[in-house]
Amino acid sequence: MEDFEVIIIGLGAMGSAASYHLARRGQKALGLDRFKPPHAVGSSHGRTRIIREAYFEHPLYVPLAQRAYDLWAALERESGRSLFRQTGGLMIGRPDSVIIRGAKRSAEEHHLRYELIGAGEVRRRFPALQPADEMVAVWEPRAGILFPEACIEAHITLARRQGAEMHFDEPGLRWQPEGEGVRVVTSKAEYRASRLVLAAGSWIKTLLPDLKLPFAVERQIQFWFEPKSGPRFEPGRCPIHIWEHEPGRYFYGFPDLGDGVKVAGHHEGEITDPDSVNREVAPGEVEAMRALVRKFLPEADGPLRSAVVCMYTNTPDGHFFIDRHPALPQVLIASPCSGHGFKFSSGIGEILAELITTGTTRFDLSLFRNRRFESR
Ligand SMILES: Cc1cc2nc3c(=O)[nH]c(=O)nc-3n(C[C@H](O)[C@H](O)[C@H](O)COP(=O)(O)OP(=O)(O)OC[C@H]3O[C@@H](n4cnc5c(N)ncnc54)[C@H](O)[C@@H]3O)c2cc1C
Repeated sequence: MEDFEVIIIGLGAMGSAASYHLARRGQKALGLDRFKPPHAVGSSHGRTRIIREAYFEHPLYVPLAQRAYDLWAALERESGRSLFRQTGGLMIGRPDSVIIRGAKRSAEEHHLRYELIGAGEVRRRFPALQPADEMVAVWEPRAGILFPEACIEAHITLARRQGAEMHFDEPGLRWQPEGEGVRVVTSKAEYRASRLVLAAGSWIKTLLPDLKLPFAVERQIQFWFEPKSGPRFEPGRCPIHIWEHEPGRYFYGFPDLGDGVKVAGHHEGEITDPDSVNREVAPGEVEAMRALVRKFLPEADGPLRSAVVCMYTNTPDGHFFIDRHPALPQVLIASPCSGHGFKFSSGIGEILAELITTGTTRFDLSLFRNRRFESR
């Protein structure tokens, strides 16, 4: 049986980044994935992900986002690949909405550059976007787009170059503690390691059958519409945009990078199972998305180019789960999703590697701990 210092189960956004940072720290690492990442059946496909800094969900995320920006830039340099495109970003809603109040709070607490602009000014500066008169927007200049498949590929390639073993099409079936380490059984072999990182995305509960973690997998659809007037949606004229179009209801969109205008709702999908999720998109689902497009991005109301199903792994409070196994400190559990984790994955990979190699991290992970669920 082969021995490793650390095994990482799941090589999507989080596991590929963790593998890279562990290998860079000289750890003898084995990464395992049930498919061939980057693939299109988990949570990290669809060609684009938003990255932003004035984080309306909570100011605690801002230092994580800032570290992630630096690490994406470093990864671009090291891999020689284009992973990020800056477009600026607009958070749009009514003045008292969660998105506006939250983005302003994060920007002010962390002294970020931002502007609060009225609906008329948004329509004038970014004519693709047509907010209602009573809406306002927080403009943040550093926001932009990550290319998720390329990010994962870069992390995997460079992890391998640093000496990590990466096995595809080899699902981890189960694991158990062995002394102070772990033994992992896969479809092909058994391995031993001192530490284990579980980063299996929407499948993570299958690897933790004894823990009652309150994760729910949610079906989400990404749509691409043909714009009626292309230039308005060019990246130079159209930033990334997130809308709280009604209290607590969100959708978001991207400029047209040549494959149409991508838009998607945020939450409101059906709760599902990762092995039986419905990957067909019904005409009624297209019409529901189109109704929002007509209202707020009317020039994107052309033919549907494509629609792809993806999965969120949600916690009840929408914050990530990053913590040690409650009974086994040699096991780290990382489920940074709830629909907003990709941007942080470079930084979370580094945090997981720090936790494995030094036992601590300089980042405040208090929002992400298991103890918030323990009294449930
Ligand atoms: C439609 C959509 C839009 C999103 N938009 C944004 C956005 O704009 N910005 C943002 O920051 N975030 C966004 N997110 C969230 C972000 O994409 C996720 O937080 C992130 O992809 C989660 O990464 P992960 O590594 O946990 O999961 P994944 O990338 O899915 O990786 C999990 C991996 O584990 C593997 N695996 C599972 N079980 C096993 C097993 N037993 N053995 C071996 N391997 C296994 C899987 O094959 C997979 O490769 C979005 C998510 C979706 C679905």
